[in-house]
Amino acid sequence: MKVFLMMLAAVCMLSAAANDFTNDTFSTKSGPLTITFVGHGTLMLGWQKLVVHVDPVGRYADYSAVMPKADLILITHEHSDHLDKDAIGHIVKQGTVIVANDAVVRQLGGGSALSNGAVTNIRGIMIEAVPAYNLPGKPITFHPKGRDNGYVLTFDGLRVYIAGDTEDIPEMKALKNIDVAFLPMNQPYTMTPKQVLNALRMIRPKTAYPYHFGNTDTKKLLDIAVPRSLYAAGGWSRTAYRRHHRRHREQ
Ligand SMILES: [Zn+2]
Repeated sequence: MKVFLMMLAAVCMLSAAANDFTNDTFSTKSGPLTITFVGHGTLMLGWQKLVVHVDPVGRYADYSAVMPKADLILITHEHSDHLDKDAIGHIVKQGTVIVANDAVVRQLGGGSALSNGAVTNIRGIMIEAVPAYNLPGKPITFHPKGRDNGYVLTFDGLRVYIAGDTEDIPEMKALKNIDVAFLPMNQPYTMTPKQVLNALRMIRPKTAYPYHFGNTDTKKLLDIAVPRSLYAAGGWSRTAYRRHHRRHREQ
C-alpha cells in the first residue's frame, strides 16, 4: 500500500459554508468517511450520517450557523485553541456525546472523561485515548504527561490517529495499523518537521497530514523527508505531497 503524505488547508473564512472547507474521503467497510480540514487543530468527520467534531473552535469556523450539529465531540485538551465552550454550545443537540480529557470535562461540567489508555465505543466508533505531551527538557512544558489526549478512532476497520498537541513521544511506537494520521507541527508547543518525520517512522501511517502547524512551512517536511530509508520504510509519495501542497496553496 502506498503511503501518501499530504497537507491540509490552513486558510478558511468564517463566512464559508461547511462544504467550502477542503476535505478528503476514505473508504470503510460500511461506507465512506469524510474528513473536513477546518483549520489549525480543528477537524470534522462524517461517517454513516454521524457528525464528529474534533476540537471545535469558533475562530476557525462559524459553529453558530454554518457547521452541522454534533453526534460526537472530541476535545483533546483545555487550551483555548482546542476548547471553546461557545462553539460546543452551538453544536450540541439531544444525544450529543462529548469525550474529552478530565480537565475539560470538569470545565464543561459534563461529558465523558477518558484518560490515556482508556477505550470507549460511541455509536460504532471505537475511541482510544492515547498520550499527548511535551518531552522533558524544555523551559516550559505546555502539555504535561498524562493530562491531555490524542485519539485513535476506528471506523469499521479504518483507523484514524488524531495526535493532539504532542511531540514525538515513544508511545507512538505502540500505535498499530494506522490508516490516517494527523500530526501537529509547530514549536515550541508541538513538533518540528524533523520530529514529525520521526513520528511518521514510528507510526507508519498509510496517509499523513500535518495539522496544527501555525507558521511552520509544512514543505520543510518534504525537504527533510528525502532520506531513502524513509521510502524504504513506507513508500512515501513525494508527488502526492507536492500535488496537495500546490492545491492547498492556491486556495
Ligand atoms: Zn494547540
